Amino acid sequence: MTSPHPPSVSRVLETERGRALVAEHGHEPAANAIRAAIAAVRINGGPSEADIIAETAAAQLSADELSPLRPLWNCTGTILHTNLGRAILSDNAIAAASAAMKRPVALEYDLGTGTRGRRDDAVSGLIEELTGAEASLLVNNNAAALMLVLATFARGGEVIVSRGELIEIGGAFRLPDIMEAAGVTLREIGTTNRTHLRDYEAAIGPETRLILKVHTSNYRVEGFTAEVTAPELSQLAAKHGLPLVNDLGSGVLADIAGFGLPKEPTVAEAVAEGADIITFSGDKLLGGPQAGFAIGRADLIAKMNTHPMKRAMRLDKIRLAALEATLRDFRRGIAGPTWAAISRDLTELQEAGARMAGQLGVELVESTSQVGSGAAPTATLPSVALALAPQNGRSIDTLAEHLRRGQEPVIGRIRDGRLLLDLRVISPNDEADFCAALSRQLSEFSA
Ligand SMILES: *Cc1c(COP(=O)(O)O)cnc(C)c1O
Repeated sequence: MTSPHPPSVSRVLETERGRALVAEHGHEPAANAIRAAIAAVRINGGPSEADIIAETAAAQLSADELSPLRPLWNCTGTILHTNLGRAILSDNAIAAASAAMKRPVALEYDLGTGTRGRRDDAVSGLIEELTGAEASLLVNNNAAALMLVLATFARGGEVIVSRGELIEIGGAFRLPDIMEAAGVTLREIGTTNRTHLRDYEAAIGPETRLILKVHTSNYRVEGFTAEVTAPELSQLAAKHGLPLVNDLGSGVLADIAGFGLPKEPTVAEAVAEGADIITFSGDKLLGGPQAGFAIGRADLIAKMNTHPMKRAMRLDKIRLAALEATLRDFRRGIAGPTWAAISRDLTELQEAGARMAGQLGVELVESTSQVGSGAAPTATLPSVALALAPQNGRSIDTLAEHLRRGQEPVIGRIRDGRLLLDLRVISPNDEADFCAALSRQLSEFSA
């Protein structure tokens, strides 16, 4: 029934449902939601009984309570998805981070002497041991590490970079922009596909502050190509008294080539090749929280540590604790969720997929996953996906949106009119919870 006169806000607040809303959400939020529901009835029409208005307000308040940062299911096929927060932490890293959140820790305090200690020490010792670097420091992310390198050593001067390595990582990370923001003049050399040692040599002048090598982490230049290797660049840089900086991007500590992926340079290899400073991320193949490492020559790292920008970019105790645990796991040979997903056995994955497809009554199809976040950009890993078809004459986009907006969002990709949910990153431990969440959301959709 439609009434031309919707009730007043206070009338709705007096209903039983209205009082319950006040008890649950507080007076102001409840009254505001009711006001909005009344306004919507005035504009759009529809039932205007106080109980129904209170119901609409309740639905809106519940929807508002859903955090945009609520956990979701990544079925995109991309293991390290930057837009979905990259690496999932290991149980040990989560435990270490929560312990550090609950109580004080010796963040800049030496427990042996009772005097001031150094913030990055817990992680520095481990990363130096694992990579063979002389010294290291930690900042907010790899972009910050690079920024700090440039600000410390190259401000007001020139940095030499090959044209073939002038990367854009996505978002606002474009190498030329970072250079400009750091007050550095970019000296591009060579061509997109070929850069030679003589190009570097010819570009070195009185304004040169450092040579930067950038790992082309999210694309490959193929065909008629030439790039100068790090050992050659290291020799050249040393001859001219310049630091060689290698921006590796994904900080891979172990060889990934064993898992059907092409070789990515490991951090230890980059150290052995003679770069003076190497930068990489904590939340890509390292599998930890967002962080940026700068490792290398002790005198250079010490200089970066005293730059005022370091203070503005430093890590908090929570992330340091998680990183330390991630590296300890790594040292003991324990694979975290990122490596578990990369190295997942295809037969086991197919069996898990068949089980889930059977339980949910949907089709299972072949799929391909990728590492993501600028590691092995051209490589794919064979995988399986649940294939959801449109139902009740509704479009596949409507279904995809319904699953995205759910209490536990499920994010897939649309291919040939179907929604594919890649299962590689749904760990065996999460299988039951994932199926329950998906099944609930699918029945809501068909209801
Ligand atoms: C990913 C990447 C970056 C940026 O790292 P963040 O940790 O996201 O700041 C920089 N350089 C390279 C080569 C990368 O692959």
